[in-house]
Amino acid sequence: MTATLYAGEWQAAGACLSADPEIFFPVSGTGASAPQIELARQICARCPVRRECLDWAMNSGEMHGIWGGTTPEDRTRARRKDAARRRHAARRRWPAAPDIRAS
Ligand code: SF4
Repeated sequence: MTATLYAGEWQAAGACLSADPEIFFPVSGTGASAPQIELARQICARCPVRRECLDWAMNSGEMHGIWGGTTPEDRTRARRKDAARRRHAARRRWPAAPDIRAS
């Protein structure tokens, strides 16, 4: 059984606490920022609260920085994919309504 960590608690256990915060806020998602992003991802990969961090970023709509090993672009893609999956699931649950205009 794992303990539930509440907001604030997981942040105190983050592997990034001893790292330079600048590493987690690259100026862009590509180019010269690529090595910085890779370093942040390496730190996140060994973080014991990565799941909580990513959940927080996804649920809060955080649009800046590396959280849970993801870039803002990664999270936007994940949100779009999730929204598409939900739309697809909703269509499968509810059959198309009959066209009552013809009657
Ligand atoms: S997952 Fe990354 S950004 Fe989140 S707390 Fe851990 S080290 Fe910090």
